[in-house]
Amino acid sequence: MLRAPFLYLSRRRGLQRFVTRQKLTARLAYRFVAGDRLEDAVRVVKEVNARGLTASLDHLGENVTEERAAHAATEDYLAAFERIATERLDANVSVKLTQLGLDISPDLCRALLERILARARQLDNFVRIDMEGSAYTQRTLDLVFALHEKYPNCGVVLQSYLFRTLEDVQRVNALGVRVRLVKGAYDEPPSIAYPKKSDVDACYEKAMRELVLHGVYPAIATHDDRLIEATRAFAREHGISGDRFEFQLLFGIRRDLQERLRKDGYRVRIYVPYGTEWYPYLMRRLAERPANLLFFVRSVLRERRAA
Ligand SMILES: Cc1cc2nc3c(=O)[nH]c(=O)nc-3n(C[C@H](O)[C@H](O)[C@H](O)COP(=O)(O)OP(=O)(O)OC[C@H]3O[C@@H](n4cnc5c(N)ncnc54)[C@H](O)[C@@H]3O)c2cc1C
Repeated sequence: MLRAPFLYLSRRRGLQRFVTRQKLTARLAYRFVAGDRLEDAVRVVKEVNARGLTASLDHLGENVTEERAAHAATEDYLAAFERIATERLDANVSVKLTQLGLDISPDLCRALLERILARARQLDNFVRIDMEGSAYTQRTLDLVFALHEKYPNCGVVLQSYLFRTLEDVQRVNALGVRVRLVKGAYDEPPSIAYPKKSDVDACYEKAMRELVLHGVYPAIATHDDRLIEATRAFAREHGISGDRFEFQLLFGIRRDLQERLRKDGYRVRIYVPYGTEWYPYLMRRLAERPANLLFFVRSVLRERRAA
């Protein structure tokens, strides 16, 4: 019931400045975000790697409205790749196209993305293009498909709440593009997306099967025990070994699950966001599980009573 209000808040940029300045909300955010600086993300990735897991770094930011900000985001990603290489981290990066200026100019966005992809290719690394709201789905896929031949080191994300996704799965599989499969984190109308969780999950399972069977090293990104078990069972039944796909989970969520999958011998990648632009990211995490807010408020109240 609270999903829609949090997703509404995630788009209210007027609130962003106010909310991010509050010490209490910042404390809540840092349960899901590594910290403000690349330094913080590097520290978290080292811990993640030490636990036998890999990572994907996300420098938070989206829907930039100034070219300057898109250029700055590009420099930040180039710096992240340098750090990954010099510190020998087991990590790639995740990028949002609206962070590279897609709303300002598709040509600018493409040019900046190519700079990142070219550097990643030199360093033998990989760039995942995150999927944003449905206004960007086609444009994101078009750009990835256009660049994939030149830069096979880029992959995309598909969202199982969209009706179109099973068709998109056929297309990416035919082109050999690597996919991260997610349920979808934005507010979409019932004309294009399943409103019911059971339908989103059913579509996820169908897409997972196609990707695990015919895709190129797919990433099954979910914290949903049932879908994770379905993936494991499907791979077993079809003799697909655990090194042909990976599970992905978000930093700060279900550490028990991260450990269990690793212990069972699966490849697990943790999505590690960092940076000061955490407001929309936090609102989406609260939309997925409003109880996060309740737990946090309770723990703060307990601390205050104890003080
Ligand atoms: C690595 C990764 C990358 C992603 N990239 C994208 C992307 O590019 N585009 C996009 O639209 N979406 C992305 N998402 C988000 C995704 O679309 C879902 O919104 C999110 O993963 C929650 O759905 P779920 O699959 O975990 O299943 P759910 O059915 O929502 O949750 C299953 C269980 O997971 C736990 N859980 C889920 N969310 C939370 C939370 N916020 N806090 C605490 N526990 C939680 C709960 O125990 C819950 O019962 C990504 C998710 C992951 C894991």
